[in-house]
Order: sequence, then structure tokens, then C-alpha cells
Amino acid sequence: MKREPSILIIGAGFAGLGMALELQRRGMSNFTILEKAADLGGVWRENTYPGAACDVPSPLYSWSFEPKPDWPRRFSQQRDIHGYMRTVAEKYDLPAKIEFGAEVTDAEFDEGAGIWRVNTTDGVTHIADILIPAVGQLSRPAMPNLPGIDSFTGAAFHSAEWDHSVDLTGKRVACIGTGASAIQYIPRIQPEAAHLTLFQRSAAWVLPKFDTEYSALHHALFERVPVTQLAERFAIWSTFEFLALALTDIPGLKHPVIALANRHLEKQVPDLALRAKLTPDYPAGCKRGLFSNEYFPALAQPNVSVETTAIEAVTPNGIRTADGVEHAVDVIIYGTGFKGTEFLAPMNIYGLGGRKLADVWSAEGARAFLGISVPEFPNLFMMYGPNTNVGSGSIIYMLEAQARYIRQVAQYLAQRPATFLSVRADAEQSWDDWLQPRLKDTPWNFCSSWYRNASGRITNNWPGATSLFRWKTRKFTPSDYEERRAERR
Ligand code: NAP
Repeated sequence: MKREPSILIIGAGFAGLGMALELQRRGMSNFTILEKAADLGGVWRENTYPGAACDVPSPLYSWSFEPKPDWPRRFSQQRDIHGYMRTVAEKYDLPAKIEFGAEVTDAEFDEGAGIWRVNTTDGVTHIADILIPAVGQLSRPAMPNLPGIDSFTGAAFHSAEWDHSVDLTGKRVACIGTGASAIQYIPRIQPEAAHLTLFQRSAAWVLPKFDTEYSALHHALFERVPVTQLAERFAIWSTFEFLALALTDIPGLKHPVIALANRHLEKQVPDLALRAKLTPDYPAGCKRGLFSNEYFPALAQPNVSVETTAIEAVTPNGIRTADGVEHAVDVIIYGTGFKGTEFLAPMNIYGLGGRKLADVWSAEGARAFLGISVPEFPNLFMMYGPNTNVGSGSIIYMLEAQARYIRQVAQYLAQRPATFLSVRADAEQSWDDWLQPRLKDTPWNFCSSWYRNASGRITNNWPGATSLFRWKTRKFTPSDYEERRAERR
């Protein structure tokens, strides 16, 4: 290595930490992680709602090189995942490389010097050869645009900003939203509430969750015979790859999955009227498939009503629906998701010629070669960028593929000090030309979700199996990029 490039990573969630681990494990340590919060963890630090857990089993939802033999259960709780992230980060001495409380406001590429200048809210300008935003797709809560939302006089909060000081015992609680978050906390809070009203705009496709507690025997086996945990990881990975293919390449595979979801609903909801309300009216897989054994039984309890009339307004005392009914409640919980299509916002990123990334993406939405590189934004490599989210599978597997690719770029640049790389516009265009027809054939086109932006373009999801993404990103090819030397170095 001639000169190890300096690297700034933005964000200390699974993406940022994963990138740092990849560099560290390959002997590259000239990096700093800028983290806006006071702790690492990303979404696993932020989302502390009751029942917060991962619906991807932990043997797969973990770094391939850091298996954890003693997960308490197959589908881990938020605190265990956050603890795992902290333990692994500490093992590799990453906390010393993280600047906490450093929120990036803007970053500008200095063409003459061939460096990124990155400003943080504390007034500091950081400088680096390579900039790696790793800020996630689901870090900015989305509140619905409902008339009167600020007039409500009771407690109200978003699921990702759970207000633990609010005691829900004996309260009338309104829950808005039926996504992956709501499905986890509704069964936890239903027994506490005097009454829970679920305001459902879309019914969810729900599959059974094959969860299990790992016993001391499991832990001993995974510890002493690691191949057993690897075998479980492989079995889970294969199942998710099957589901990914059902969403993309082989739609015929979806039929047994739909049958399973329908049987799950029938079995868990004997009341026909309620079952009708909870039956989705859009194709399976369009929104993220959900896994729960507790959601439907919670909705069938006598203290729960499922309201399917659209919300008209929030009032000082509750929620008014389009039929004019005023639902008086004490607490409103917004499980209304995240601003997933606003990649890298609210940061301002300026590339060659002062070009602003948000402007480049304003016409159609975010796009990037391999989800990683954007033309005219040299030495900028994104983790969890456009079209790298999975409809089925572990995002950590995808992030490892991205980190390996970006590490190869960093190694390449280490041999060529003071040069910078911008992905060629035609390489990026060919990538998009390959991607778009694949996206057109997916079920994600048939409803609204955070996978699509206002123009209808699917900006978030990867259209294929995760192994295909891994294959596509396996090797950094310099000819995909234009190489230039910085003049002032
Ligand atoms: P989400 O999936 O985007 O769901 C938002 C919900 O709010 C939807 O049901 C939506 O209805 C509803 N909504 C939004 N605005 C509304 C309005 N004005 N009136 C009525 N309903 C409204 O959000 P999420 O549940 O927080 O999940 C987001 C993503 O986070 C997931 O897809 C997943 O990737 C991730 N996540 C993962 C896990 C895990 O276990 N791995 C857990 C939680 C979250 P419509 O469907 O009709 O739009």
C-alpha cells in the first residue's frame, strides 16, 4: 500500500460499523466514523418501542464473521441486537474511532485538492479522501400530514421516538399504521390499554413467525460445534432467498406463501367480520411481508377495535374519521414509518462543479451504480444506498457485500495517492437500464409503500436474490470509473 486513503464514514449503525469492520479486518485503519447521536446502533438504538425485535432470525441477521452462539432466541429483541453491535464494535476497538455528537450538515468535494470537506453541526470541518455515507434508509420518522395534528391535547409520539414516560395502563390508545413496527408493539400494549383503536389504512400480509427460545443446549452446541449454527444460518438464508425469488424472478413461488398467510389469518381470526377487515386488498409482497403469531390474536381481543374508515383529522380529543365519527382517545401512537426515499437527507452533498446530489436526484429519485456510486460525485461510496434494500433477506448480508466492494476501491486508491474516481455516466446508465425492467416486474408496483417515491419509481429495493447482489458487487472494476489526479497534491 503506497498511502492509505483517509476515510470518513457517516453513521454508526449496522452499515457504518460494518464498513469500519471490513476496513479494520483488512488492515486499513485510517478512518473515522461521524455519528450524530451519543451512542452507536442506528435504528437499533432509536427504536425502543415495546416488543421491538428483528423479524429476520439472528443467525442470519448478524455479521458473517462474528456469529454469536448465545442469542437468547431466534428472533432477537432490540436490546440483544444493540448489545451485539456494541460487543462487536468494542472487540474491534471501534468506539475509539467514532466521533459522537457529530451530525453532518454538508459535504463538498474539493476538486483541486481531491478531498472531501465535511461539516458537522459542532462547527468542525473534517477532511478525507473518501466519504462513505452510511445513514440508513429508515432513520428519519415520517409523521402523517393530517389536519389538526398539532391540536391534540393528549400524549402523542412516533413509534421510533417512543415516549416511555407515558403510562398506557387504563388509557384509550389510538394506533395509526399496520407496518412492521406496529405489528410488534400492538400485542405488547393491547393488554395494558383500556381500549385500543387501530386505524388501518391497509391490511397487512402476515406470515407465522417460527420463533424459538435457544436453550443452554443450543448455546453449547453453537459454541462447540460452530457448523451447527452455520447450518441454521444457511437454512434461514435459503428460505429468504426463496421468498426473494418469489418477489422477483420466479413469481410462481409466491403461491405457497400466499396460502400460508391466508391459513394463518383464518386460523387466528375466527370472526368473519374482523377477518374481512384484516384481509389485504393488494398483491402479496407489495408492501413488506410481516411475521407475527401475536398480532391477529391481539386484534381479536374485546378491548380492540379495527377502524378502516379513513382518518379525516386529528382533533384536540382524538381522531375524526371520514364518516364524521369522533374517536376520543388519550394517546396517539404514530406507527407511520420513515422518510425512506429521501436518501442522505437532510445532508447537502456537493460533487464536481458544485453539483448538489439532491438536485441530481430531484427529477426521478435516488439512483446509483450498484447502489453505491453516483457520476460526478468522486470518491463518494454509499452504504445502503438506492435499490439495496431487501424485500426478503438480511440487510447485513447486503451491507457486507457493499463494504467488501468499497474496501476494494479504497485499496485501489491506496496504490494511487491523490487520484479520485467517479463512476462513468454510461456505466451508471447501463446499471439502471438493467435494474428498471427487473423492478417493473415486481409486486412493489401495485401499492404505495416506502419502497417507491412520489413519482412511482422504486428507489429502495433490490430486485432479486441477495446472492445476485453479492455476485454483482463481488469485484471492483476500475474501468467502470473515470480516474483523475488532484492538481494541488
Ligand atoms: P411502514 O411499514 O412504512 O408502515 C407505516 C404504516 O403507517 C402503514 O401501515 C401506512 O399505511 C400507515 N400510515 C402512514 N400514513 C398514514 C395515514 N396518514 N393514515 C393512516 N395510516 C397511515 O413503517 P414501519 O412499520 O415503521 O416499518 C418501516 C420499515 O422498517 C419496515 O418495512 C422494515 O423494513 C423496517 N422494520 C423492520 C423491523 C424488523 O423486524 N426487521 C421492524 C420494524 C420496522 P399504508 O400501508 O396504507 O401506507
